[in-house]
Amino acid sequence: MKVRIDEDLCTGCELCSDDVPEIFEMGDEVAQVKQPDVPEEHEDAVRQAAEDCPSEAIIVEE
Ligand code: SF4
Repeated sequence: MKVRIDEDLCTGCELCSDDVPEIFEMGDEVAQVKQPDVPEEHEDAVRQAAEDCPSEAIIVEE
């Protein structure tokens, strides 16, 4: 499973980096993905983060 962030949509709300800091971190203004290839133990949390993102900026590729 892979994950990326659409930087044009991200508003920098920090929800994803707070919820799954193993995978997401804040850049200057928008979130960044630390590990595009998501380890299995974090897959559910990343799916949840994508659902919770208020901007629908987290793109999951199963
Ligand atoms: S939850 Fe969505 S809008 Fe908020 S920082 Fe993460 S990617 Fe950006």
